[in-house]
Amino acid sequence: MKSVELEIGNESGLHARPAAALVRAASGFRSDVRIENATLGRPPADAKSLVGVLAAGVEKGHRIRLWADGADEAEAVEALRKLLATDPDDPAGQVKGAGARTRVFGLAAAPGIAVGPAWWPALDGAAGQAFRPGPDDAEPGIRSAAASAGAQLEALAARLCELDRTGEAEILEAQALMAVDPALVDEAVRLAAGGLDAVAAIRASAEASARALSALDDELLAARAADVRDVGARVARIMSGAAIAWPEAPSIAVAVDLAPSLVVEVPPGLLIGVALAGGSPTAHVAILARSLGIPAVVAAAGLDPGAAAGSVLALDGETGEVILDPNAADLGRLTDRQAARADRDRRAAATRGRLAATKDGRRVALMANIRSPEDAARAIAAGAEGVGLFRTEYLFMRRQSPPGETEQTAAYRRTMEAFGPERPVVIRLADIGGDKEIPYLGLPDEPNPFLGVRAIRLAHGSRELLLTQLRAIWRAAGLARVTPHVMAAMVSTVADARLLLELRDEARAAVLAAGHPCPDRMTTGLMIEVPSAAILAPELARLADFFSIGTNDLTQYVLAADRGNPSLARFQDALHPAVLRTIASVLAGADAAGIPVAACGELAGDPAGALVLVGLGVDELSADAASLDGIRAALADVTVTELRDLASRALAATDAETVRALAGELLVRVPD
Ligand code: PEP
Ligand code: MG
Repeated sequence: MKSVELEIGNESGLHARPAAALVRAASGFRSDVRIENATLGRPPADAKSLVGVLAAGVEKGHRIRLWADGADEAEAVEALRKLLATDPDDPAGQVKGAGARTRVFGLAAAPGIAVGPAWWPALDGAAGQAFRPGPDDAEPGIRSAAASAGAQLEALAARLCELDRTGEAEILEAQALMAVDPALVDEAVRLAAGGLDAVAAIRASAEASARALSALDDELLAARAADVRDVGARVARIMSGAAIAWPEAPSIAVAVDLAPSLVVEVPPGLLIGVALAGGSPTAHVAILARSLGIPAVVAAAGLDPGAAAGSVLALDGETGEVILDPNAADLGRLTDRQAARADRDRRAAATRGRLAATKDGRRVALMANIRSPEDAARAIAAGAEGVGLFRTEYLFMRRQSPPGETEQTAAYRRTMEAFGPERPVVIRLADIGGDKEIPYLGLPDEPNPFLGVRAIRLAHGSRELLLTQLRAIWRAAGLARVTPHVMAAMVSTVADARLLLELRDEARAAVLAAGHPCPDRMTTGLMIEVPSAAILAPELARLADFFSIGTNDLTQYVLAADRGNPSLARFQDALHPAVLRTIASVLAGADAAGIPVAACGELAGDPAGALVLVGLGVDELSADAASLDGIRAALADVTVTELRDLASRALAATDAETVRALAGELLVRVPD
């Protein structure tokens, strides 16, 4: 081990830029490098971590100690000593830019705070030996590069599977399929035969497919356009032998948009954040960042990736804040926030294993939202008391034809058996339509899909889709020996509710006639997510065993604001009193009929939302497994009286911000 002690002489100490330069330099050595602020007597920090160096709080005049331990320890200590002895505000000229502080806000896409050098992923054209196909071998060149891209993406998917991220692995598996998709490859071959360079041809073909998807005016499909471009760029890279130059030190990727596969491909530990000028929280890059625990902000208009590259960047993936060249006050604020959140998360994790209840003992059932039987293990590990929303439409996605009755029976049975007879699994009949289009069903194009033929409305035209599903649910429950729980989305009239009951009974008769074991009854619920259903709650409650409030759709329909339109994001807060007053009337209708009410939209997983919903009288909350600890912790800190008081003040408010502030008074405060 080698060490050196020295005094820091520059005005700003070891803050943003000098700190970044030290981290970059330290990261270039194989040895472990640590820094200690001897003046303040703080514990040594990792000198390869910007947060570590910043947390050392080195000011002008402080004495620091640097240690290196490893194969190149002597060189490391000497190089770092020299670095800190040169122009302290820009040591060795390693940090680019004059450092004008810029603060912009984008959309929160993956939680967490990151501080680090900005890295603009760019192609390193010199890397690798290009096999760039000429006009004569364009076709085999394109086909073999496409096959290699497919194999690379399969390998990345396998890496995610090893991390137990099967849902996210599917994203890359789908991309692997896109890489060899005839529509993409044949079009590139055709363009190359017409005289275009093979690399340009695959790019043009991918761009054409991406544009076709973007033009569909559907946020989810538009987000998939980025996946196709990503695939095209990968095939092009393989043909041209270019590679992306990875950052040398842990960095934050800045770009207009980012290839989803890149997030998985960057060597572990080097990608500590993502800041995008474009993108959307539902894009795959955001989903992958969330699942890998990499903080991300998207749609940060005003963020210029070219200008940011090389500077220090700070971002908060929970508030959407991005700061270029943060000052000491910014870093202090972010560090405090990070510590407060870590404390909040620790307290929340400590509630795992307990049933959710308020401080004075009022029980609230906590259920999980899932998309496939594979999600069951994660939900059970998170302490879910069952499933409040199984979004079965995902079983219909990323395939060429609908899953048959037997396949569906197996999927539902597996899920029911994973939870057992004591933990109900509420299966939502496929919510197809709206933003969830299934191309092979050949449903007609609609000018307003969110106001169109969606979910239960599909059965007014053709009953078979939902009947097949209901037969599969009856059969699965018969085999798993549990009582099946079902609900339908987009119920808007009493006729819709009656149709659901009719389909349920018809499916049971068919299952019995075919000689399958079948339970006597099915607990049958209605999702309340359309204003007309809320208004009809007293009548609907007499037809159902339970209600489940879909706060996502209820918000979009009450406020008439498309939930997928980022420019209407300010309308999407379900804590808006107009939504809460609607929920209060649903609860009154349900109470009169004596049926329980659950909430399963995003609001249920937001601690502030959970407090308000329970205060209003909701019996059960269903949310993503990752949110359950936070809800349990929030409830454990408050009494029923406090929650009722919160609910009545929320109902009297006129905007969501006021309600959020009221709920915030009851939550563990995290500094803004
Ligand atoms: C909702 O609308 O709140 C809901 C839970 O359903 P989805 O988000 O799948 O439409
Ligand atoms: Mg919904």
